[in-house]
Amino acid sequence: MNILLIEDDAVLADGLIHTLSNSGYRVTGAISGHYAKHLLQAQDFDVIILDLGLPDIDGLDLLRQLRRQKISMPILILTARDNISDRIDGIQQGADDYMIKPFELRELEVRLQALIRRCYGGFSHTIVMGRLLLDTQTHQIQADGQLLALSPRESALLEFLLIQSGNVVCKDRIAQRLSSDGDALADNAIEVYIHRLRKRIEPYDVLIRTVRGLGYLLENKDHD
Ligand code: CA
Repeated sequence: MNILLIEDDAVLADGLIHTLSNSGYRVTGAISGHYAKHLLQAQDFDVIILDLGLPDIDGLDLLRQLRRQKISMPILILTARDNISDRIDGIQQGADDYMIKPFELRELEVRLQALIRRCYGGFSHTIVMGRLLLDTQTHQIQADGQLLALSPRESALLEFLLIQSGNVVCKDRIAQRLSSDGDALADNAIEVYIHRLRKRIEPYDVLIRTVRGLGYLLENKDHD
């Protein structure tokens, strides 16, 4: 799971990045609204944690802009503003949850997990396809109950395809997803990862269908 943390308090941001990374999330920090918007164009995220008091733009304005641009991933507001009207405003502008600083890290993690579960896994924290199972809390993928050993990029790609199952995922989004250091992956590199992954998962009744001109779709193997 990729988290975008929009927070200008460097000490708090470092602490959160450290804790959440230890829990298996990939966390990218943005210290301004402007930089957050830049990151959202370049990379793919599953969840946004949003501070409201940002140096260049009010967090609620940023939230409104993102929702207007049809950026639909879950957003959790993390702010020192504790009055009820801000909270109502945040939810009305499209936030999915709201936490007041100071907060307990443990509670933030539990709320993040709940958000991810609601948005991506129905009411379960697992996503099942064929004989594969993704645990969205531990980020582990099992095949027939055994841990599937994959390289970090293969694992990130398969997790992404599982989260997006039912949707065609284009190469651009995969490139954004797999590039952590800002270097975009070339199309043929993505094809190589897809090819390797296909071979690994097809024994478990899951296949990656190429939808010409659009991208890839993860689906159950048809037994008919
Ligand atoms: Ca702030």
